[in-house]
Amino acid sequence: MALMITDECINCDVCEPECPNNAISQGEEIYQINPDLCTQCVGHYDEPQCQQVCPVDCIPFDPDRVEDHDQLYKKYLVISVKA
Ligand code: SF4
Ligand code: SF4
Repeated sequence: MALMITDECINCDVCEPECPNNAISQGEEIYQINPDLCTQCVGHYDEPQCQQVCPVDCIPFDPDRVEDHDQLYKKYLVISVKA
């Protein structure tokens, strides 16, 4: 399941450098996550790093992007090959 950033984001810039997949970027108004690059940190860390550092807890799981661990790991492998 990919993660998403809600409009409670305060643009603090803390999460972007923590993402091992470069899935986080500055959007027009707030930061955003590319769901095609977000593996929930599978392949790199046990916990989603962005969630760990966000000071306002505005990075929930995206209910529209439900993926199990195997799917997330396959996504990680595809991203790693492209990188
Ligand atoms: S969960 Fe991990 S891969 Fe997904 S956006 Fe957050 S830091 Fe990046
Ligand atoms: S850490 Fe949270 S508040 Fe800060 S830019 Fe990222 S999503 Fe927004």
